[in-house]
Amino acid sequence: MRAIILEKHGGIENLRYVEDFPAPQPKVGEVRVRVRAAALNRLDLWVREGWEGIKLPLPHILGADAAGEIEAIGNGVQGLAVGDRVVLNPGISCGQCELCLSGQDNLCPKFGILGEDMHGTYAEYVVVPARNALKLPDHVSYEQAAAAALVYLTAWHSLITRGNLKAGESVLIVGAGGGVNSASIQIAKLAGATVYVVASNAEKAAQAQALGADVCIDRSAEDWSRAIFRLTERRGVDVVVDNVGMATINSSIRAVRRGGRILIVGNTSGYSANIDMRYLFAKHISLIGSTMAPHADFLQVMRLVFAGKLQPLISARYPLAEAAQAQERLAKGDVFGKIVLMV
Ligand code: ZN
Repeated sequence: MRAIILEKHGGIENLRYVEDFPAPQPKVGEVRVRVRAAALNRLDLWVREGWEGIKLPLPHILGADAAGEIEAIGNGVQGLAVGDRVVLNPGISCGQCELCLSGQDNLCPKFGILGEDMHGTYAEYVVVPARNALKLPDHVSYEQAAAAALVYLTAWHSLITRGNLKAGESVLIVGAGGGVNSASIQIAKLAGATVYVVASNAEKAAQAQALGADVCIDRSAEDWSRAIFRLTERRGVDVVVDNVGMATINSSIRAVRRGGRILIVGNTSGYSANIDMRYLFAKHISLIGSTMAPHADFLQVMRLVFAGKLQPLISARYPLAEAAQAQERLAKGDVFGKIVLMV
């Protein structure tokens, strides 16, 4: 099959387009999907670069997100047929342990993500457990579905399930351009919250506003935690979404109200932050981490995508063979919205 293979960890020069990679075979309970669209995530860059102690069999295939059609079915699969159009839940769990059976499959000890822990979607074919393939309504395109899955399920689980966001609350989203952050803007608006966004420049601020953000702060023009203090009449916001991490967490602690919560699903600026602990207890702040989402949240958020209530913004499309250029673009950070590989 055609695929982009990662031969060793490092820069984009280690991504190679091949046409003769062996296609994966579906085992019991699995399906093989002919990938039509695969979306990029920051996760792909981190896995490509690798980290200390990473032990991934190489060559590896990156990519968490995909939509396409079912092309082969393993034994014991019910409710899906060859030719069905599907979108994939990129979170793979065992389906049998206590956490999976209690609906917390993203906490499964065997939990993995397509393209991080197993071969992913930068390929003509990918194999997943049948329960990870969700049928796509005819009116939803492959690229829309692929662009939605990981970022929306992650943002939904963090804001709604873990963060318990309620109508009437205020949310500050630190950073505007990334996939999870733009999904967070839309989900927070849908939930009835007032949304503040910190953008790195005026152009990104305008784009965040077009997505529904109520107030955008251009951090190149003013100190954003001070701006929040002023805009909320010294109260602070109910919820801060901070997936930037090291560079921003202390400003987030200042911007959140007394008794507020800070939601974290990632750390694009680095993971080793120095936190002034006094603010945490004095202000009764809750730091709430999460990763990915249980299957129930995937189903719920994809229903909203199918209904058009959440619409992923696609900023660029590349053919599969140009995955390296697509990753370079994502790494530069000058895109707003998702980059999709057309397979
Ligand atoms: Zn499990």
